[in-house]
Amino acid sequence: MFEKSKSLYEKAVQLMPGGVSSPVRAFRSVGGTPIYMDRGEGAHVVDVDGNRYLDFCCSWGPLILGHGHPAVKEAIIKTVEKGWTFGTPVPAEVDLAQIVKDQIGLESIRFVNSGTEAVMSAVRLARGYTNRDRILKFSGCYHGHVDNLLVNAGSGLATFGTASSAGVPEAFAKLTATMPLNDREALDKLFQEHGSELACVLMEGVPANNGLLIQDREYIHHLAKLCKEHGALLIFDEVLSGFRMPEVMAAKHYEVEPDIITLGKVIGGGMPVGAYGARREIMDHVAPLGKVYQAGTLAGNPVAMAAGHATLKTYFDNDVPQYIEKIGSHLDIRMTDILENTEDMGYIRLGSLFWMYFGCKDAPKTAEDIPAVGSKIYAKLYHFMLNRGLYLAPSAYEVGFLNAAHSVADMDQLADALKDAIEQGVIR
Ligand SMILES: *Cc1c(COP(=O)(O)O)cnc(C)c1O
Repeated sequence: MFEKSKSLYEKAVQLMPGGVSSPVRAFRSVGGTPIYMDRGEGAHVVDVDGNRYLDFCCSWGPLILGHGHPAVKEAIIKTVEKGWTFGTPVPAEVDLAQIVKDQIGLESIRFVNSGTEAVMSAVRLARGYTNRDRILKFSGCYHGHVDNLLVNAGSGLATFGTASSAGVPEAFAKLTATMPLNDREALDKLFQEHGSELACVLMEGVPANNGLLIQDREYIHHLAKLCKEHGALLIFDEVLSGFRMPEVMAAKHYEVEPDIITLGKVIGGGMPVGAYGARREIMDHVAPLGKVYQAGTLAGNPVAMAAGHATLKTYFDNDVPQYIEKIGSHLDIRMTDILENTEDMGYIRLGSLFWMYFGCKDAPKTAEDIPAVGSKIYAKLYHFMLNRGLYLAPSAYEVGFLNAAHSVADMDQLADALKDAIEQGVIR
């Protein structure tokens, strides 16, 4: 069933670390070997052996319209025919900046090539703007592989952290404080002691890289208030949550006004794009206007900008958030029904993000609350789903993505498969 994928992987492990370009693709946490995709069609992907899957991974988030959407494809092809990079300004970046401003109110924006780059640049901007070095982030939030953010909470009394990756100098890690989500007391204490030294606080719009850890509105408002009182900038990392909420953005969902927003994934429509933006008064600190340096040879690339613009235009013209609520609420009903009599598994959804979790009944709100056993249970479910023609992210800690190409029938296909997995004792 997976012959061609297997032989490609055998070759790849000789050529690339772990055989992959990004670690989670190696299937380490679910076992087995990765599947090589050949093509995508709407809600489906087809692998190199010809197996067809209903896709809930969707390239980890960028494909809010599904695979091969005609409007995006046309925008890409039309652009490519005229050339694909000039290293000059191009009209498409103005179009993309304009639609972002009109729709989400971001006054000024800088395009980069990835979410990681967006966050790295946003942190630099916050430091340059405030003339402070320390930053705060939360365990269970992922912000790309930025040196300053590959940091674990310090042990014992140490407020500032230790590197979570080899190659990150301790001197960097010491500038980053990490604390659990949803803990007001810890937040108050840190701000009391170090508030005046913090350049910024990084919060994932809705934490969705380590389960879907939806935060209380009051907690987020409290955080925003502390930032304001202490002159620290609040950075909402919306690389994943952006254009995936019922209200489009997580900031809007919580009704807060972050100082800086980082974007990625959907904003490139499947091309490598990231962006950071803020009110002009902050963004004017970025070069060439200001003293915070940041640049990119391929930044604002015409193909990527055209793909992003076509994606966002289609998204808003067709009211995709409303469509997602329609299919999503059907999935909610089915999942609630199926999981009603189970004791240690659950499902949660916000906008086009959903998560099935195992080992507990109530949805966890912090990384620390996620039972470790979930990973083992998920590994079994994962291969069952794959054989049923459903492609989920190969890790228990990753969310599922809905997109505009999914149908109500697709929701039923997912729910039916979970029901059968439970009834057949694949998972308890
Ligand atoms: C994916 C992601 C990033 C990193 O983006 P890349 O394009 O993978 O570098 C940063 N922050 C969040 C919240 C993300 O989900």
